[in-house]
Amino acid sequence: MLDRAYAAGVQQIVNVCTDADEMRRGLALSKRFHWVYLAAAAPPHDVTGAVDPFYEEVERAASAGQLIAIGETGLDYLQESHDKEEQKSWLRRYLKLALRLSLPLFVHCRGAFADLFAVADEVYPSDRCMIHCFTGTKEEAFEAVRRGWKISLSGILTFKNAQSLRDLAAELPLESLLLETDAPYLAPQSRRGQLCEPAFILETAACLAALRGLSLEEIASATRQNAAQFFSIPSVS
Ligand SMILES: [Zn+2]
Repeated sequence: MLDRAYAAGVQQIVNVCTDADEMRRGLALSKRFHWVYLAAAAPPHDVTGAVDPFYEEVERAASAGQLIAIGETGLDYLQESHDKEEQKSWLRRYLKLALRLSLPLFVHCRGAFADLFAVADEVYPSDRCMIHCFTGTKEEAFEAVRRGWKISLSGILTFKNAQSLRDLAAELPLESLLLETDAPYLAPQSRRGQLCEPAFILETAACLAALRGLSLEEIASATRQNAAQFFSIPSVS
């Protein structure tokens, strides 16, 4: 999979670890492949109860310099089985951790932007935040941009039914935009139903390029630069 990514022109990967097993495998992978960077946190749909041993692991790895970011944490109110207050309390913990360790952070947010902004106002006086796999409204996107946050677009951008997201992607400031695969989920339109992998980022990048009237190279270069700056990783050409 990494060979296919590299052949497609992907030169850096942020591998997101969401549990202890992924973290163990992620650390081993990063050791072998220095262009695979790690981020970790328990996503909002996985947090349960007041105690989570994974949090301690994230804290340990982050303190040891093994992570380039905290994420994905966040709020998901579309899954009603998950307690909102519990999600908010874990979000606060991860926000504080990112601040304390001076790491950027990315969030998953569905149906919960008012609370996301409110919690950030409470405990996160920083602009080092990215909303991953953005699917919110225009107002929510521009509120994030006003805060200096980044917006990351996934393969959803290419979906037939995502015209409003494409309209928004054409309008947002380019310096606010990042691209992601969200692998193994959300393969772009021509690959829908397949296991998503990093090489598929090209289809999403080509879609954004067409929307912005830019070449694929120009979009790749701009979003790479944005990502390098956001994650504080080396800038590649
Ligand atoms: Zn997510």
